[in-house]
Formats: sequence, C-alpha cells, structure tokens
Amino acid sequence: MHQSPTKARPRVGFDNRIPKAGPEIFILRLKGNSSHTMTVLGDEIVGIWVHWTGKKSEPHYEPAEECRACLQKRPKRWKGFLHCFDHVLGQEVFLELTPGSATNLAKQLPKTGALRGNRFSIRRGAGDSARMQIQLLTVAQEPAALPPQRDPRPSILKLWGIEETESEGWLPEDGENAPDFEGV
Ligand SMILES: [Zn+2]
Repeated sequence: MHQSPTKARPRVGFDNRIPKAGPEIFILRLKGNSSHTMTVLGDEIVGIWVHWTGKKSEPHYEPAEECRACLQKRPKRWKGFLHCFDHVLGQEVFLELTPGSATNLAKQLPKTGALRGNRFSIRRGAGDSARMQIQLLTVAQEPAALPPQRDPRPSILKLWGIEETESEGWLPEDGENAPDFEGV
C-alpha cells in the first residue's frame, strides 16, 4: 500500500482528557469455589438480555428486527443484577445472577416476595461458570436502616462503554464499534 511521506509516525498516547471513571459500584460475578454472604439492598433484580458471540457478550437491542446480533442469530441469554451489600468484600455490589440462581432466590423469599432486607449466602462450585447455590438466611435489620438502593443500569451500561447520558441504552450510532462486555 502506498505510504505518504508526510504520514506521521506512531507516538506515545499523551492525552489530557480525563477518562470517565469506572462504575461506582462494583459488578460482582462470582468466581468458582467462592462463597459470599449478601444483604439485599435493591427491591428488584434488574435483568438484561445479552448475546453471546462465543468469546464475549454484547447487549441485545429492541426491536429485535434491528438488533445486529439477533440478525446474526447469535444466542441470547439473560443476566440479572441485584444491589447487595457483600459482607465478604465489605462493600456494596451489583451481584450478577443467572436465570437459575435468580429463580433459586425467588423461590426462597418470604411470602411477601420482598427482596430488600433479606440475607443470603451464595456459593459457586468449581469453575467460574459452575452453578451457583443460594441459601436464604435470617432477615437482616429493619430495611429502612439499610443504605438506599441503587439502580444497576448505569453501571451495567458502563461495562459496555455506553455513556451515562445514553443510559436509555440506545444502540450506538456505529454498531461496529460497540464495546465488549468486560470480563464475561
Ligand atoms: Zn438481539
């Protein structure tokens, strides 16, 4: 390919523009062979459909006829996120749940179905994709005394590099540049 003699050589990436900080609340995907105790702060599990490309996931977009991954017939799967206080890490997290673990939790809830204020232990078997077991524990404290619940959606979108100003989750203008979902 013809190279112009005036073409600049690569140089060190100095950049004075401060990048946006990562999600304020850590999204926790349980590692294999680990066990955590959680107090639920959120009053709902926020679910999102994602497409698995074989290596990474990317968001599913509605309407499905305009979702690039749907058009490519990529498999679709659901992830749930629940705002909790993690007693092992000593911090608030958005805990990532599978359909199986979310169902497991829902089945153990008191009859009121209220999530906030419940405590549970969650354990993942051998391997980072192993099944997770949830065991409901005694209800924590007065829910009113717990920290306020936070919406996981802005943090979820930040994982894909979608700006918070676009937190409605619009498809990026240039779909080819849709960033990957980190660590999944
Ligand atoms: Zn889709």
